[in-house]
Amino acid sequence: MQSVVIIGASHAATETIASLRKQGWTGKICLIGDEPSLPYHRPPLSKTYFSGELDANKLLLRPESFYQSHNVEIRLGQRVAQIDRSAQSVELEDGTQIAYDYLVLATGTRARQLPLDGTDAPNMHTLRTQADVDQIRAQVSSKSKLLIIGAGYIGLEVAASAIKLGADVTVLEAMDRVLERVTSEAVSEFYQNLHRAEGVDLRLQTSVTSFEHHNGISLAHLASGDTIEFDLAIIGIGVIPNSELAAEAGLVCDNGIVVNEFTQTNDDRIFAIGDCSFHHNPFYNRHIRLESVPNAVEQAKVAAAKICGKDIIYDQLPWFWSDQYDVKLQTAGLCQGFDEAVIRGEPADRKFALFYLRDQQLLAVDAINSPVDFMIGKKLIASRLPLAASSLHDTTIPIKTLLG
Ligand code: FAD
Repeated sequence: MQSVVIIGASHAATETIASLRKQGWTGKICLIGDEPSLPYHRPPLSKTYFSGELDANKLLLRPESFYQSHNVEIRLGQRVAQIDRSAQSVELEDGTQIAYDYLVLATGTRARQLPLDGTDAPNMHTLRTQADVDQIRAQVSSKSKLLIIGAGYIGLEVAASAIKLGADVTVLEAMDRVLERVTSEAVSEFYQNLHRAEGVDLRLQTSVTSFEHHNGISLAHLASGDTIEFDLAIIGIGVIPNSELAAEAGLVCDNGIVVNEFTQTNDDRIFAIGDCSFHHNPFYNRHIRLESVPNAVEQAKVAAAKICGKDIIYDQLPWFWSDQYDVKLQTAGLCQGFDEAVIRGEPADRKFALFYLRDQQLLAVDAINSPVDFMIGKKLIASRLPLAASSLHDTTIPIKTLLG
């Protein structure tokens, strides 16, 4: 009987299992994951799970019965140490060999570490797994001074969740605005004002040079010469794709594991999907690596189809969401390279959208508490219709009329 082995037990893996069986795979499926629990929703880790609004038992992506009914051999708490492509097998750290006909790499990413003194103390954290949040939650209370390094999505979401818990929150960002890597100045400014209004001490252009822990007191030394005392710190400065396993097996890697439009690597029996894959996106005509659940899910469907002998090309528009306080951001597309940013609505109302155009074509939209702008924006990007900035800006023109 033929066998699919999946490495990494999270969003991409779970969808692969569901899609394989749906598309008629009757062979074996073996899921290997190095975390101890069944695959769980990662987005709530910085949001409702952090703030205590979501219980651990609500975190699972699928109940245990799903894996039984889909006839999956599950190996949790086990790490794949290497791939032997000529033997078509993987080796676990304990030496166990598992043969495959098709191998799916869904190894995701890991948190980037800050290469500074003092980051190895028990009150210094990164946030990627449920175990990370459980450790942080055991240390954080309404009396805590929480220091967050990095004002990307995770840093800002944690700041909002910790404010809900009543903690005293400071966020340090080395760049001159928050979310600089992913959005425009107008959206950065909105989030800066939002966090400050909610009580976060947000400091831009501020970098840490070292941490010091002495007699129960922790200090962050800043490049400016100032120091900040804190009880615990969370470092949120981005992620690194888990592509070493692939690279050591001779698979082509760049910013992640390089795949074709069917999510196959340069070995056509090995697929790479989700956060670890570096893939071509037809909307932007370049290779990208995405850190988003929708991408993990869509790529899983493509890989499962190919394994079942059906060719579906991956051609999805990237999208993403972030929840902070009462503000839901929904982003469609990638805004890099825009030549015009058009605002629709009022930031002061906490409900508006930023549309990013290049040569009058819509590249991306950031919709803040405006699901309609997000939904129509997605369709407008896909349509590639020429758009006038004035019509996007004018809220008296219903946005859906722009679809023609
Ligand atoms: P991952 O979820 O990274 O899982 C990979 C798994 O593989 C991990 O368990 C890893 O330990 C395991 N693994 C790696 N190497 C091995 C090995 N050799 N052997 C065995 N196992 C291995 N996305 C959104 O779209 N919206 C959000 O709001 C959002 N919020 C987020 C909040 C947080 C705090 C985090 C951390 C992420 C968030 N994301 C969000 C991103 C989203 O969670 C990821 O895009 C998604 O988890 C990617 O799924 P994946 O299956 O590709 O990889």
